[in-house]
Amino acid sequence: MLKVAVYDTKPYDREQLLLAGTDGRIEWHFLDFRLTPDTALAARDAQAICAFVNDQLDRTCLQALAAQGTKLVALRCTGSNNVDLAAAKELGLTVTRVPVYSPYAVAEHAVALLLTLNRKIHRAVNRVRELNFSLNGLVGFDLHGKTAGIVGTGKIGRIAAQILHGFGMKVLAYDPFPNLDWSQKTGIEYVDLETLWRQSDVISLHVPLLPDTRHLIRRESLELMRQGVVLINVSRGALIDTTALIQALKTGRLSGVALDVYEEEEGIFFEDLSGQVLQDDELARLLTFPNVLITSHQAFLTREALADIARTTVANLRALAEGTPFVAGSVLT
Ligand code: NAD
Repeated sequence: MLKVAVYDTKPYDREQLLLAGTDGRIEWHFLDFRLTPDTALAARDAQAICAFVNDQLDRTCLQALAAQGTKLVALRCTGSNNVDLAAAKELGLTVTRVPVYSPYAVAEHAVALLLTLNRKIHRAVNRVRELNFSLNGLVGFDLHGKTAGIVGTGKIGRIAAQILHGFGMKVLAYDPFPNLDWSQKTGIEYVDLETLWRQSDVISLHVPLLPDTRHLIRRESLELMRQGVVLINVSRGALIDTTALIQALKTGRLSGVALDVYEEEEGIFFEDLSGQVLQDDELARLLTFPNVLITSHQAFLTREALADIARTTVANLRALAEGTPFVAGSVLT
């Protein structure tokens, strides 16, 4: 039987993994803490570990895993920016990810954030609960007729673009590898990044975190944007320089920001810190703005996406046990 240590397990992970892999071929060890060099030991004797976005798979941690006999790191996410892939390769560790799962889950969450932020639903709901039925300060704008800029037109960005197009928005897109068939079919126009920054009323980020996308949103890009632009980020926190973001909110360059991810989210997002003092001053500052909406990395959290993630992860674990090929597109090293 294949022994698998699952780090940072939440009830919804456990439920879906058990549903996808209950035929007795996998011995699950569900751990509710994150993987770090210090917690790697908890995977002793496990041939595979299953990790998520905020697990810390740096060289030291991977060395500890390899030394205790781990063969496979199965990421139950798409991004791999938290894994030192070069070190994994040197150590002979196979790293797999989930190359595709419901992109609708993530795109729809981006749009949900935009609608909530623009129509101030989060504030309205709180007000009505307190029997404050006043509408003062709740004015939004029609999305119809405005311009949306989609940065990154992969699986998620294309769906977000199409939903916004359906609202009657003009949609501009930027991607270093444009999908011209899609652009022709949908009438969504590719432009260069500077044009997108200058012409968009709403900007939504759908790119992976890579060395050249880190701080894609920084002082220089913010200065090119329209006064009062709305920014949505459901991709990775470090695409945005938080210090520059706060400054642009204070000057009014940004009239609204919705984030599902945050540069320093590790150790904060996914946790219940409601009884503690928040130590991150920039996050604390962001939470004071009435026009900032933050969710805790939940864009993937639909039944469909969780089931897709669990099926691919279990298929890769079985492939390790049986020596059969891993799921196409999932092998990183
Ligand atoms: P994808 O690989 O299908 O698409 C990414 C696109 O970004 C590609 O078309 C690529 O060409 C483009 N790109 C690369 N570098 C770029 C750059 N410098 N500028 C503009 N575009 C660039 O990925 P996807 O499935 O659409 O996912 C996008 C991102 O969403 C993921 O990398 C991940 O970080 C994030 N994500 C977040 C959640 C969540 O729960 N919040 C869930 C899944 C994915």
